[in-house]
Amino acid sequence: MPDETPADAADGGPESGAAVATVFVKPKRARPFFGRHPWVLDSAIQRVEGSPADGEVVDLVTHDGQFIARGLWNSSSRLRVRLYTFDAEQLLDHALWEIRLAAAVALRQQLGLDNPEGGCRLVNSEGDDLSGLIIDRYGAYLTIQVTALAMAERLEPICDTLERLIKPQGIVLRGAERGLGKLEGLHLPDRLLRGTRPDGPVFVTEHGLRFGVDLTEGQKTGYYLDQRDNRQAAARYARGRRVLDMFCYSGGFGVAAAVTGKASAVLSVDSSPGAVALARANAELNAATTMTVEQADAFEKLAALQAAGERFGMVVLDPPKFARSRATAADALRAYHRINRLAVDLLEPGGLLVTCSCSGAIAREDFLVMLSGVAQRSGRMLQLLECRGAAADHPVNLHCLEGEYLKCVIARVA
Ligand code: SAH
Repeated sequence: MPDETPADAADGGPESGAAVATVFVKPKRARPFFGRHPWVLDSAIQRVEGSPADGEVVDLVTHDGQFIARGLWNSSSRLRVRLYTFDAEQLLDHALWEIRLAAAVALRQQLGLDNPEGGCRLVNSEGDDLSGLIIDRYGAYLTIQVTALAMAERLEPICDTLERLIKPQGIVLRGAERGLGKLEGLHLPDRLLRGTRPDGPVFVTEHGLRFGVDLTEGQKTGYYLDQRDNRQAAARYARGRRVLDMFCYSGGFGVAAAVTGKASAVLSVDSSPGAVALARANAELNAATTMTVEQADAFEKLAALQAAGERFGMVVLDPPKFARSRATAADALRAYHRINRLAVDLLEPGGLLVTCSCSGAIAREDFLVMLSGVAQRSGRMLQLLECRGAAADHPVNLHCLEGEYLKCVIARVA
């Protein structure tokens, strides 16, 4: 029989990791948490015994007081409690964060991503049982993004552990994604946490290619590590083809197609001048002489290419998140349909469509149904060759499917 008594608040201060308050779940709302879902929404809570400060440890119990889990409280977030253990004996103390961080780092070593020249995601929030914490390594530097107030309050011990485990040259805090910080009541400007800041771009190797990554202040977007293996997978089909890389950002798909894939020509397009500059620099760095980069709006450019009767052997679509929530999923699917239809119309017979969606609110199945609709409307047969996700250093916690966001479909268009 597990200990069902909530840990005693009198045992220690906030550092002890014991609960300072008890959160009662509404009747019939406890099931997801017994299923280890780590997010307790405000709407699932019946009442709170005690008065936890934001970031403090609380116990989650059923309406009749049975222990479910232990987590961290945030009164200003809709995710009122984030759960970190389902074991009544386990304290949420520094020793626990250290164990979780070490396990995350060990997984990346196992994946062969501990190459000091490369980039990799070391901690992927819920996927590594560290809800609200994202840590990336770029060569000798680490970046931390916190999307939970409770993790922001624990940055010092987290950095201590990282210095012991990785010995980075510097650790940089990156501001959370726009909007997210506000949801959590977080106001975290970018700043240097430990060591030194790189004085220019950091160069990382990815499947034999080199990319410059800007970790300096103001550059919010970073680098898309999640697409690492998809860039290489797409390149395998590029040989001798004319490739269009739409929404190219720092040029990853285009450079891989040009250099690794030996495409005959690559046109990379992004609407942001900063992205265009990055993509050009990365093309040059890899001597991708067949690659050109253009600044344009994707929808306009796709339509213009079509009007001009241009054809490609491969089109890559990697747009930003079209759906921010389930409420906007239907509109987003229409936008995905539009760009994918435009892309299919640009493909020569036997051409390859590499189409991505990073909207977590769009389920994989719905994305495939959208593509099926594109096949029907266009009258072209689409053969699904590969249905891919994020690289393995972005593990998804299957107790929390919200973490499964990236779709990358490679299809042949007859
Ligand atoms: N494929 C990239 C990541 C793309 S991120 C990689 O592998 O690294 C999405 C990109 O879409 C961003 O660089 C953003 O500037 C660009 N973007 C957003 N809206 C756009 C639009 N309407 N037209 C063209 N590019 C757009």
